[in-house]
Amino acid sequence: MNKIRIGIVGYGNLGRGVEAAVGRQPDMELIGVFSRRSGLTTNSGVATYTMDQLADFQGKIDVMVLCGGSATDLIEQTPEVVKYFNVIDSFDTHARIPEHFDNVKKAALASGKAGLISCGWDPGMFSLQRVYGESVLPHGESYTFWGRGVSQGHSDAIRRIKGVVDARQYTVPKKEIIDAIRNGETPEVTATSSHDRECYVVVEDGADKAAIEKEIKTMPNYFEGYHTTVNFISQEELDANHKGIPHGGFVIRSGETTEGTKHIYEFSLQLDSNPEFTGSVLTAFARGLYRLASHGGRGAFTVFDIPPAWLSPKTEEELRAHYL
Ligand code: NAP
Repeated sequence: MNKIRIGIVGYGNLGRGVEAAVGRQPDMELIGVFSRRSGLTTNSGVATYTMDQLADFQGKIDVMVLCGGSATDLIEQTPEVVKYFNVIDSFDTHARIPEHFDNVKKAALASGKAGLISCGWDPGMFSLQRVYGESVLPHGESYTFWGRGVSQGHSDAIRRIKGVVDARQYTVPKKEIIDAIRNGETPEVTATSSHDRECYVVVEDGADKAAIEKEIKTMPNYFEGYHTTVNFISQEELDANHKGIPHGGFVIRSGETTEGTKHIYEFSLQLDSNPEFTGSVLTAFARGLYRLASHGGRGAFTVFDIPPAWLSPKTEEELRAHYL
C-alpha cells in the first residue's frame, strides 16, 4: 500500500501536534516540515525546509497541512500553497471564513487542487455536531460551550498590560446553565452570560495589583461583561500548575419531536492538549481530503464535504462489519 505523503507548513504548537498525529497513522508518512525560519530541528527528526523550497516538492507530497496562525498567516498562506498542493488548514476566525473560502477556491480551481479550510475542533468537529443536531432535531435550540480551557488570545491580552510578567486565562462554562439544558430547559444564553473567565497572573515586584485587576476586568472585547476572577500567583506556581494547553467544550442540541417529547443531543470534548487534538483532527481529514482529491475533487471544501468513511484507514467492508 502506498502511504499518503504529508507535509507540514509552520512549526508551532499545531505543527508539532500534526507531526505527532501523523506518526500514529498506519497509512501516512511525513515527508518534511516547511517553515519561514531556517535551521529548525523537529521532534520526530523529520527534515525541515524553508518556504522557498516548497515548490520543489510538487508531486512528492499528497497533502500539505498548514499550521500557521489564523490572525495573519493562513489568510495568505493557504491560497498560496494550494497553487502547488492539496492543502488543509485550521482557520478559526469565524467572521472571515467566507472570504477565506472564496480566496482558496479561486486559487485551487486555477491550479486543479483541493483545499479544505477551517478544520479542527471548533471550527471542525463542533461544526459537524451543530449540523447533525439541528438536522435531526429541527425543532429546538443549539448551544456551544467552550472550556474549561486556556484561551491563548485572552492570556496574551493580559500579558500586554504594564507590570504583568506572565498570565494564563481559563474560559469556564457555567455548570448550572449546562445542567439546566441537560434537564430539558432551553434558556436564552450569550457567550458572556454562559461563561466565566479565570485569570492567573504573575506581576513585577511592586506592581499595582488593584490597578492591574481593574484593567483586566474592564478590558473591552475580552473581559468586559464577563464574571472574571483574577488570582495573583508566583512564576513558579504558574510554571508548575498552568503550563499545559488544555481545552474542550460541549455542543448540545435540545429538541422536541412531538409536543412534550424531548431529546438531548450532546457532544463533548475534554482535551489535555488543544494543539495535539486539533492536529489529530487535521490528520484524519487530510486522509479524507486525499481521497476526495483522488475522486476528482477540485476547489475549496470544509468538514461538511468529507464522508465519514473517508476519514478512516479502515476499508468500507471493515467499517460496515464492525462499526455500523
Ligand atoms: P503558534 O504556536 O503561535 O504557531 C503559529 C506559527 O508561528 C507557526 O506555524 C510558526 O510558523 C510560527 N512560530 C511558532 N513558534 C515560533 C517561534 N518560537 N518563533 C517564531 N515563530 C514561531 O500557534 P499554534 O498554537 O500552532 O496555533 C496555530 C493556529 O491554529 C491558531 O492561530 C488557531 O487559529 C488554530 N487553531 C484552530 C483550532 C480549531 O479547532 N480549528 C484549534 C486550535 C488552534 P513558521 O514555522 O513558518 O515560523
